[in-house]
Amino acid sequence: MRASLFKRFPLCVKCLEQDRAVAATERDHVVPLEEGGVDDETNEQALCAECHEVKSRAESQRGRRRAAAPAPMLQGGGGSKVRA
Ligand SMILES: [Zn+2]
Repeated sequence: MRASLFKRFPLCVKCLEQDRAVAATERDHVVPLEEGGVDDETNEQALCAECHEVKSRAESQRGRRRAAAPAPMLQGGGGSKVRA
């Protein structure tokens, strides 16, 4: 249920950190899916359009050099232990 996010977080969480009250309009993944984040309510946050754009831009830049800093995956199960 997408609407529930904005019910729980009607204001942009990033702006709130800076003591600004801005209505959230974007659903954002705290950990981007392409960096191993999950697509459920434990990994979502409400942002305003401006913060979402800033975050997305940072993520796409990070993605380009992601090989240097792989996101930790501590899910267990699946049995895929990647160790050199
Ligand atoms: Zn914001």
